[in-house]
Amino acid sequence: MDKTLTVLGSTGSIGTQTLEAAEKLGLQITALTANRNVSLLEAQARKFAPKAVALADERAAGELRVKLADTPVRVLAGTEGVCECAAMDADIVESSLVGIAGLLPTLAAVRAGRRRIALANKETLVCAGHIVTREIQEHGCELIPVDSEHSAIFQCLAGGRRPEVKRILLTASGGPFRALSREELYAVTPQRALKHPNWDMGAKVTIDSASMMNKGLEVIEAMHLFGVPPEQIHVVVHPQSIVHSAVEFTDNAVIAQLGVPDMRLPIQLALTYPERCPSLAGELDLARIGTLTFEEPDLAKFRCLAIALATASRRDAAPAVMNAANELAVRAFLDGRAGFMDIPDIVDRAVSDFGNLPARTVEDILSADALTRASIKV
Ligand code: MG
Repeated sequence: MDKTLTVLGSTGSIGTQTLEAAEKLGLQITALTANRNVSLLEAQARKFAPKAVALADERAAGELRVKLADTPVRVLAGTEGVCECAAMDADIVESSLVGIAGLLPTLAAVRAGRRRIALANKETLVCAGHIVTREIQEHGCELIPVDSEHSAIFQCLAGGRRPEVKRILLTASGGPFRALSREELYAVTPQRALKHPNWDMGAKVTIDSASMMNKGLEVIEAMHLFGVPPEQIHVVVHPQSIVHSAVEFTDNAVIAQLGVPDMRLPIQLALTYPERCPSLAGELDLARIGTLTFEEPDLAKFRCLAIALATASRRDAAPAVMNAANELAVRAFLDGRAGFMDIPDIVDRAVSDFGNLPARTVEDILSADALTRASIKV
């Protein structure tokens, strides 16, 4: 493939798998960014010879600048440096940053215009979906989802015309705690929450999967990506993670996308679309899997999902506030400062305190995010 690629968040789980695909496809790398992983970004810079790299953490960037002094790679620092990398001339920019930190760099990539945005950073759409989707259109960009469910929906939508779509069936594994009782959930540890039954992912999204906040964020993500109201998105728990999502059309035909749970498939498709190429993901052996099961989500047990569904259609800062509170609550849980069942409590309180703030501009959203973070003491 004769294309150039920038990866925002290249040292994370999605970022490293993207570079693996890029190498196989022969893509040329324009820029790479990360938060503070000096040694891995140094290794990636030496291997892929990008024009520039950036670390959001200024001190880490200083360290990397010394290490890469013998190369022609420019080393940039801070959010500004990450945004400068995002805006550099590239055919595809993959945004796989985690959390609200992805918002400004993703917008910088969009505003540079006329490119494909391969989006793995769901929080950007959750917090600022109206703004990001409008700017994607204004700047002649193309938005291709990387999230496995949204990649599946994107593929299923090719099976009919847009006015013929009745419902989106968004599947959820249910996470590692699907079968636990509400009482048992109070005692779960970060170690247990980090063991996802099917997917190998970063810590933030793994905890979000365990609390089912991830599915709530994905409902909002789907809303913005595909322009459908939340009432038309139905969450279905499917513990085997083989059906990655489905679309139901007006004639009640349901078209689903199936595959082994392996992010390398949606990552590669976001790079090669509309073409399909042999991928590093394994073959699906349905007979060996044998049984696929489906059930309704338990909203009383997984309150994060209920909170997210309730904020989905709000046009104020509620989704951004929910996201900020969740980012903090997940961090506190991972650090042992909060329990697993404190996560929905922290999120719920923040949404009622700050959810009514306006969200008309990026500045509004970032200020609601900052206010929420400052108010949470865990
Ligand atoms: Mg997903």
